[in-house]
This record gives sequence, C-alpha cells and structure tokens, in this order.
Amino acid sequence: SLCRIGTAALAVQVVGSNWPKPHYTLLVTGLCRFQILQLLKEKPYPVAEVEQLDRLEQFTNQHKSEEELGELSEQFYKYAVQVNCFNPMYQCIYMYVWGFLSVSYLPFSLCSLIFFNAVRLEERFKMTIPLLVRQIEGLKLLQKTRKPKQDDDKRVVAIRPNRRINHIPSITEDEEEEEDHDDVVMLEKKIRTSSMSEQALKVCLKEIKRLKKMPQSMPEYALTRNYLELMVELPWNKSTKDRLEIRAARILLDNDHYAMEKLKKRVLEYLAVRQLKNNLKGPILCFVGPPGVGKTSVGRSIAKTLGREFHRIALGGVCDQSDIRGHRRTYVGSMPGRIINGLKTVGVNNPVFLLDEVDKLGKSLQGDPAAALLEVLDPEQNHSFTDHHLNVAFDLSQVLFIATANTTATIPPALLDRMEIIQVPGYTQEEKIEIAHRHLIPKQLEQHGLTPQQIQIPQVTTLDIITRYTREAGVRSLDRKLGAICRAVAVKVAEGQHKETKPDRAEAGEGEDCKEHVTEDAKTESISDTADLALPPEMPILIDFHALKDILGPPMYETEVSERLSQPGVAIGLAWTPLGGEIMFVEASRMDGEGQLTLTGQLGDVMKESAHLAISWLRSNAKRYQLTNASGSFDLLDNTDIHLHFPAGAVTKDGPSAGVTIVTCLASLFSGRLVCSDVAMTGEITLRGLVLPVGGIKDKVLAAHRAGLKRIIIPRRNEKDLEEIALNVRQDLTFVMASCLDEVLNAAFDGGFAVKPRVERLNSKL
Ligand code: ADP
Repeated sequence: SLCRIGTAALAVQVVGSNWPKPHYTLLVTGLCRFQILQLLKEKPYPVAEVEQLDRLEQFTNQHKSEEELGELSEQFYKYAVQVNCFNPMYQCIYMYVWGFLSVSYLPFSLCSLIFFNAVRLEERFKMTIPLLVRQIEGLKLLQKTRKPKQDDDKRVVAIRPNRRINHIPSITEDEEEEEDHDDVVMLEKKIRTSSMSEQALKVCLKEIKRLKKMPQSMPEYALTRNYLELMVELPWNKSTKDRLEIRAARILLDNDHYAMEKLKKRVLEYLAVRQLKNNLKGPILCFVGPPGVGKTSVGRSIAKTLGREFHRIALGGVCDQSDIRGHRRTYVGSMPGRIINGLKTVGVNNPVFLLDEVDKLGKSLQGDPAAALLEVLDPEQNHSFTDHHLNVAFDLSQVLFIATANTTATIPPALLDRMEIIQVPGYTQEEKIEIAHRHLIPKQLEQHGLTPQQIQIPQVTTLDIITRYTREAGVRSLDRKLGAICRAVAVKVAEGQHKETKPDRAEAGEGEDCKEHVTEDAKTESISDTADLALPPEMPILIDFHALKDILGPPMYETEVSERLSQPGVAIGLAWTPLGGEIMFVEASRMDGEGQLTLTGQLGDVMKESAHLAISWLRSNAKRYQLTNASGSFDLLDNTDIHLHFPAGAVTKDGPSAGVTIVTCLASLFSGRLVCSDVAMTGEITLRGLVLPVGGIKDKVLAAHRAGLKRIIIPRRNEKDLEEIALNVRQDLTFVMASCLDEVLNAAFDGGFAVKPRVERLNSKL
C-alpha cells in the first residue's frame, strides 16, 4: 500500500494526548522528494532504500541537452508572467516572477495545484505549459466578454518575456497612480467650480493639497477623498423654486386628507405667511397625536403643495448625538449626521424635513441628540449649523422642518420650547368610515390591482371592521385590515380569470346559484377537487359580515361594558394614552384584614396618590353617604383590606385623572350599589372633594363613544374642550359637568347617591 514517491520531512513538533482518544498533531518541515528503490522491512515500521529526486545536478547532468530545458524554462516563464498579469492572485507564479522561487520549483508547485504525476522537471514543464496556455486563452476570452479595458492589454504587452525581471508590477502601479492623480485634479476642478461657501472652499483646497502629498495606501487618503466628494455633492446653493398658491394648497390638502380641520387651518396659515414673507423665521410646527392619524402624510402634502423635496428623518430610538451632528473626522469610518446626509440625498438646500417621532429620542453616554437638534431647529442659529464631519457651517435656514410626536410629555422642554404644538386627535367612527371610503379603499384597490367593479365594501362592513376588528385612534390598523380583504379578493379574482379561460369547467356548474360571496368560495376551496368546479365569483364580490369573518377571523373586540358592570365595585374611567383615548374598568374588592390598601395594574406614583386621596375622602364622608364596611362600621378600613385593580395590568398607567373613577368604584363597593353601565368618567380630585380639570378630553370622549357609552362625567372646567368634538358625537352623548364629588356620585348611580342631610341644630339663645 506504500506510494512509490514520497516526501522526506523533519518532524519539528508533536502535540497531543492519548486521552480521551489518542489524538496527535505532527508539525513537519518538508526536505525533498524521494523515490523508493527497495523496501527493506515492513515491521515494526517500514524501512526502505530511497533515492532523492529533484536534485539540481539531476537536471543539469542527466538531460541530453541543457538547451531544451532552458528553452522550456523561458517558454514557461513567458506564459507564467502572462497568467500573472491576468490574475496576480496566482501566488506561486507571483513569487516566481518576483524571483523568490527558483525556476525548478515552480512547475512543482503548479503540479501540486493541478495534481498530476510527473517526476522529471522536463516532463513537468511539458505538462504544465499547455495547461498555462489553455488558462491564458480562457482568461483572454473572459476578458473579451467583459467591458474591454485598455490597461489590461497594455500590461500584458509591457512585459518582455525573455528578460528575467525582478519587479514587474511597478509599471501598473505607476499607471494607477497617474490615474488617481488625474482624479484628484478633476476633484480640485470640481471644488473650484462648485458653489460652496468661502469657508468651505478654503477648507477643501487645504485638504486637496494634503491629498496630493499623501500616499494612497494611507487610510486617511480614502477618508479625505470621501470628505471632499461629499463637500462637492452637497447642495450649497441649489434650491427648488417654491410654487406656493394658497388656494391650490387648500384644495390639495382637502383632497389628500379628510377631516383634521384644525390642523389644515393652521398649516394654511403657516403657508400663507410664508407666501407673504419670503424667509419666515417662524416656529417649527410639531404635530402631536396618536399613530395613524395622518401626521406624516400631512407633512408630505405640505412638501407637495410647496413643490419642495420631501425627506423623512426617523428619530425614534436615536440616542447618539453623532446621529444628528455627525462624527468627527478623526474617527475611521466617520460619517456626517442625518441632517447633512438628508441634504445630500435630496440634492437641494430647501427641502421639507419631517423629523418623525421627536418624543422617542433617547439619551445615552454618547450625548443627548435632543440637544443637537436644538441648534438645527432654532431659526436664529441654524443658518450656521456645523456638522462635526464637515467641520464647516452649512446654512439650514431654507429647510422647512416639521416634527411629529405621539406625546409632548417625553419631548425635552428646551426642544418643546422651539416648536408650536398642533394636536391631532383621533378620529370618530364616522370620520373613519369617510376616510376609508374616500382614501384608504381606493388606495388599497390600486395597490392590489383591483377595480371597484370587482369588489364592493359597503359602509356597514367598514363600521364592522372599525368596531370589531380595530381599537385605535388612527386608521392604520383599519388600512391593514382593508389590505387583507383586498388580498383575499385578489386571489378570488385571479382564480376566476383562470377559470374563465376554461369554459367547460364553468359550464359544469350551470344552473346553480351563481351568486356567491367569499365565504362560500372559501368552503369549496377546502375540498380540493370540488374547488375546480366552482364558478368564478360574480363581480363585484360583496364583502358582508360573513366574508369579513372568513377573511379576518372572528371579531377581536366585543362591547363588554354591561357584562363587567354587573357587580358593585366596578366603574369605568377614561384614560389618555399616546395611542389615543381608552376606556378603563377600575375594580375594587374588600376582605378581612388590617386596613391595608393594595394597588395592582402597574400604577405610577401619581395614580397611587389618587387612590389614597379617594379612600381618605370616602372615610371622612362615610357617615354622610351611609357607607359601611362588612361589619357595619363607618370606619371603612376597620378590620378590612381593600384591593384596587386597573386592568390591562401589563401597561403602565399614571396621571391624576382616575381620581373620580376610584371614588365612584369604592363608593359602589361600600354601598353595595351598581354604577350605571353606560357612564364613564374622568377628573382629578382633591382632599376636599373638588373635581379638577384634566387633559385629553377629546380623545377620551371619542374612546367612550367608540365603546358605546352614553353618559360622560367630566370636570366642569373642561366644558370648553367639548367644542372641539364633532357635533354628531356630542349629540350621541350626554355630558355631566361636575365640580365636586357629590355631583359625580349623583350622576354615576341610578337615582342619585343619597346624601344624609346635615342636621344643623340652631339653639335659640332666647
Ligand atoms: P402618522 O404619521 O400619524 O402615524 P400616517 O401619516 O403614516 O400616520 O398615516 C397613516 C395612513 O393613514 C396614511 O396612509 C394616511 O394617508 C392615512 N390617513 C390618516 N389620516 C387620514 C385622513 N384624514 N385622510 C386620508 N388619509 C388619512
């Protein structure tokens, strides 16, 4: 089993162990090749008489003519150089060409690559030369199929095969350098002809001077070059011409967006002032509202009305100052910030920048991005905004910034101070239906390649989607559901088209009731062989409630209000979240104990304090309202523990507005009476029993309306906020204005909440 030819080697190192399994690694240095002449013994290890191969005298002495070998070597050299020019990655050839490898070794190393058996050098040359020739031809062909490149040919011609050169690639290096030099000259020309500011020009010319002296291999070379290219690309003086016409802007805004009257009015005012006064140093507009109410899309419309470029910068989660201001150029891989990058992308210096989600800016060890935004947004400062990467001022005063946020609570005060907040509240159900039919459905039909002749979504279905499949202030989820319906219908329509091309199948179902909706179709689809026999659905496919259930699954939300209020100790509060208004069931229970109050549902400190306030007020008014604990004592906490729970326990809640709800809920618990099932309430309380105003009234009222509630108790001082609410919503609801807790309790319980009249005895002095 021994090979005839082997390699003699010197063992340099043996590493390994016998445990758990014998495993050794042997490091050897190869010495030369040999050939076995005779095997002397096999055991315990083979011993043989060998003869060394590849000895130099072998080549010179044994050959009939040295000339033949010389010729072969020259020939080989010529081809090897050519192959190397095509691809310098052939390392053994490269080493040979550079003189690191002796001529006799080269064919060996090539042979080892190609794997064939030839012992003598002459033989090896003869075998490898045709292979090299073939390789060169292949490479030439490959090059022809690529884009013809002059320099490659030049390189091949430039090599003189008969001469042993030790440093061939210098020619190509020179060429590259020359090319790069040309590029730098071009870049310099571009810099001089660009319209950059004087300060920037000065910096650029200094940098280009440095670049010319710098060797290309330095990492800084690429960095400087990229920097200069960016400087040339930036729109220093390039802008689009505003085509602002207020009447057209009004039409465009109305066409793109339904409702949002307040927002559209303010935007038009802003644009009107801009039309009258060209460089407006006005405040930055910030649209604040729940997701999906059209904040981003209004921003886009503003850009469209002005005829400006639009660029959105998402700031959610940005927690590094360099994201806004860029990295200093001392860092490898440094980049400009998002503002400068945005300008480079749009290519003009007066775009509309939408700073999306400014309330979700983070903070970290890398600095506060909100602080960096201060300079960007301040009209007094932003004409000389300095990005760390550019290190020269760029004029941002022509850029129109618009910001969006879900809540103002998390916007840093300094940033908030520079912006004018425009609240964009959620939509009513009627508004949502209109938006769906005017904007969302036509858009979805277009996206899915459908026409109104193929699908029909009546308004009742839209209402069903809104009430049973979504619970949101905006319309994003509604849009997604409509998308899902369109997808399902697209399948049916495509299938129908397919079937129409096979008339024999369609005829098979003749006489049957052709009218079907997606539900029935889906049923037939489940039985694969009958599916093919089904008729193409009759157009338009009507989406009714059954079809809806089939496509979107069973309804996700049902009105559960009356069910949950069937016991004492439950009341409905109204909460405001960044996602819009929500109704919230507050539950209370009591048990034997030591007068402790347990609060659950991830409450913030302010809410916990409200709970304590409510208990204290009820304890101090227990006699007046005839409230007793389980053993009939007016001391409500005597031998009693109270547990208050705010459902959706995983969501953190805070704020003072649950005060009245907690009082009502506890009053119900201690009086054993049920709170009216159609009442919701909101308001802050004081220890003296006053009801103070709270925020987010519009969103809260809309949430109560969505949930089908009829009566809403709000603080009297919030009465003015009701004007913002659409008339049809106001007509559906009854509002109770309360200035003290007595009024709240009277409205929350059927037939009022009895107050024991205070008996004031007047003792006559007479
Ligand atoms: P936001 O930025 O407030 O989260 P978007 O601007 O992304 O919301 O709006 C989500 C989708 O809803 C968009 O497709 C938008 O066109 C649509 N939309 C929202 N409000 C309206 C409206 N009043 N009229 C027409 N389409 C609307």
